[in-house]
Amino acid sequence: MIPVTYYPLSMQKQLVKAKATLADSPYSPFVNERVLVPENHALKIQKGPLAPDAAIVPSIKALNEILDLPPGTERVGYTVLEGPTLYVQSHVQFPGSTPEMFKWWFWWEALDSRRYMIWFPHSHISLEAEDPVRLADPTKTFEERFYENRQHVVELMGPDLFESVIRFTDPTVLGFDLAKLKKAGIEGSASGLLEVPGLRDVTVGVMVHLVRSIPGGMELISRYWLGSHPELARFPGANKAPEILAGAGMNAEKMEQVAYELAVHDMTEWHNLASILPKVYERFGTEAPPAKP
Ligand code: ZN
Repeated sequence: MIPVTYYPLSMQKQLVKAKATLADSPYSPFVNERVLVPENHALKIQKGPLAPDAAIVPSIKALNEILDLPPGTERVGYTVLEGPTLYVQSHVQFPGSTPEMFKWWFWWEALDSRRYMIWFPHSHISLEAEDPVRLADPTKTFEERFYENRQHVVELMGPDLFESVIRFTDPTVLGFDLAKLKKAGIEGSASGLLEVPGLRDVTVGVMVHLVRSIPGGMELISRYWLGSHPELARFPGANKAPEILAGAGMNAEKMEQVAYELAVHDMTEWHNLASILPKVYERFGTEAPPAKP
């Protein structure tokens, strides 16, 4: 493992702000300034975009194939696909964590922006859930609290401010086959559709985060597509995405820059969460117990 050293100036300043915001809060002991990542992940992202044939399209068939990748398949990287559409992939190991902790994290952190901050203190600024009461409802399962309960997130993606609305939903809505998810041992999902703030039911992307137990911990499987790929046309309002993204200047060149920044962001935030999650759960999981099974 090696420390991440690429933090644009805006992220360095955000870390200072986060530390000031979190000072005197119960969350400050969990601010980790020195995030360690596997050297091979960092080197993979440093060597430019993936070859086009190493990336997958967001088709129903391809989505299900990520549950059972042949040995030797590249699991880290980014590129730009037709649309243009940015693509990022990663598989991250969480030693000492469980899918139960992962699901707990996802409703617990969404109730307070300070919790969202400790996930990635150089980047994460604020998070607002549409229905925090449902998110915290002890009579509901994680899925009942979390799915179709949009979150508005503000963070730095590389040097730039990045605002999005995530419509978390059941992975079968994205195209995953329930039997295949079960066969692959998937025990939790924080997957969903990406929207632009203020434009409800207009899908501009898809995000996949699936977890399963592995010896000694948990594996997180992630994929992102943001853009106007033809395979995204099955999602609500996706026909409006090309105009919106073009209007925001997201041409192929910009998409590639954002894809690179997202790949670094993904690597940094998930490895940071992997390093703090067991301790955060141990500290707060009793006063805020996990959702009912
Ligand atoms: Zn983030």
